Amino acid sequence: MAPLYIRIHARDNVGIVVNAEGVTPGAEFASGLRAAEAIPQSHKIALQDLEPGEPILRYGTPIGFANRAIRAGSWVREEFMRMPEAPGLENLPLSTAVPPDLPPLTGVTFQGYRNPHGTVGTRNILGITTTVQCVAPTVDYAVARIRAELLPRFPNVDDVVAITHTYGCGVAIDAPGAAIPIRTIRNISHNPNIGGAPLVVSLGCEKLQPARLFSSDFPVLDESGVIRLQDQHGFAGTVTAILYAAEKKLAELNLRRRETCPASDLVVGMQCGGSDGFSGVTCNPAVGEATDLLVRAGATAMFSEVTEVRDAAHLITARAATPEIAQDFIREMRWYDEYLAQGRADRSANTTPGNKRGGLANIVEKAMGSVAKSGTTALRGVASHGERVTTKGLVFAATPASDFICGTLQLAASMNMHVFTTGEGSPYGLALVPVIKVSSRTALKEKWPDLIDLDAGVIATGESTIQQTGAALFQMILDVASGRKKTWAEQWKLHNALAMFNPGPVT
Ligand code: CA
Repeated sequence: MAPLYIRIHARDNVGIVVNAEGVTPGAEFASGLRAAEAIPQSHKIALQDLEPGEPILRYGTPIGFANRAIRAGSWVREEFMRMPEAPGLENLPLSTAVPPDLPPLTGVTFQGYRNPHGTVGTRNILGITTTVQCVAPTVDYAVARIRAELLPRFPNVDDVVAITHTYGCGVAIDAPGAAIPIRTIRNISHNPNIGGAPLVVSLGCEKLQPARLFSSDFPVLDESGVIRLQDQHGFAGTVTAILYAAEKKLAELNLRRRETCPASDLVVGMQCGGSDGFSGVTCNPAVGEATDLLVRAGATAMFSEVTEVRDAAHLITARAATPEIAQDFIREMRWYDEYLAQGRADRSANTTPGNKRGGLANIVEKAMGSVAKSGTTALRGVASHGERVTTKGLVFAATPASDFICGTLQLAASMNMHVFTTGEGSPYGLALVPVIKVSSRTALKEKWPDLIDLDAGVIATGESTIQQTGAALFQMILDVASGRKKTWAEQWKLHNALAMFNPGPVT
């Protein structure tokens, strides 16, 4: 392959090297530019001479300022630039550039499981909620028995999943921060992929008493569904009680059938993990395209990861459908700024060694690539950490960028499909929702053919376009949601543990 770089925006003064093996010193590009040194794939090359103090432009936006003279053709690395400040939250534009609605896509459907309270599942799962970590090993033991002894008799049920976590006791349960893990556990227990009310297993003496999980939103969950270990006769008696209750539930769930549902019943969570310099060129824009298609079809498309949108706050608030929605977004940014400041950190703590190896110099460059997942439509709603999302269209659900915590909070937000982009590679998966993994580079798909569901690297090489790959992802979402197709993470049962976000104190 001839030496090739991608310039993302016409104003950019750096390009991204596309060649899998990188480029060698003296390599000549079609533009006549010569590489001054060896530059690895997905890293940046200076397209012109840059003076000290000059902005380094990618996505048409300064991702840094040169702290030395940089010659055209040089490898532009993190240590060559000073990072810009995050945009202030005081004078952001509020709904000043609301995009007009895109033409609707009518008649798009999938096959789903209708729930009594209006949501629709893409899987038919028996959920077992727990109120405290003390009961988790007992529940895990019972779940293994249910899978082996009961589930084969109920072929219309996809799985039985224990909602275990480290929360529930040894915490300041009435502190303001506790509201987040409590509502997270409550809302995950009612994720659309859990058919009917979940079983609840409690210890008895814990801080998180089962009643805290009941809600007038979900009248189906009450005291009758609770098994308290401290009321049971020994380990064997407890396991028998759980198996007995599970068998009754499984018989009910087994009667459910998929029905034709409008695409508006989809709640698709978008996330990235292990990003590289290509993520913002290939997979994230392709996800953005799929996001636009979902919005046009009436679905909810959700993006998250506060520290990865913080540097694009001014772009998001301008896109908010109303000033109130923009203010909701700013409220979440401010809360997270303060949360990080308490730990003497800021959003720059986000980038990982893998991100940097993959060519991302800093959080500004990462964020500008990350927000591409949100597509181009107006922002219709904002949810705080662990809150349910009920708005259709593009919504922001506040979460940390940590893959497992983000996935956990998106499940609480009522995600029933998940899309995960990766450049460096992650085998990430969740038990409660199908996860479609999209690679930023073809080399990753070739290395991990049995983990990556869709390769967006073909966009960089010109074999496909953002539009074509985005449309392929949209179709894959419908196929997986309908149960016609399984993701690799489902095939191998790769289930990362739930990870609660607990900003409150432990005792
Ligand atoms: Ca992430």
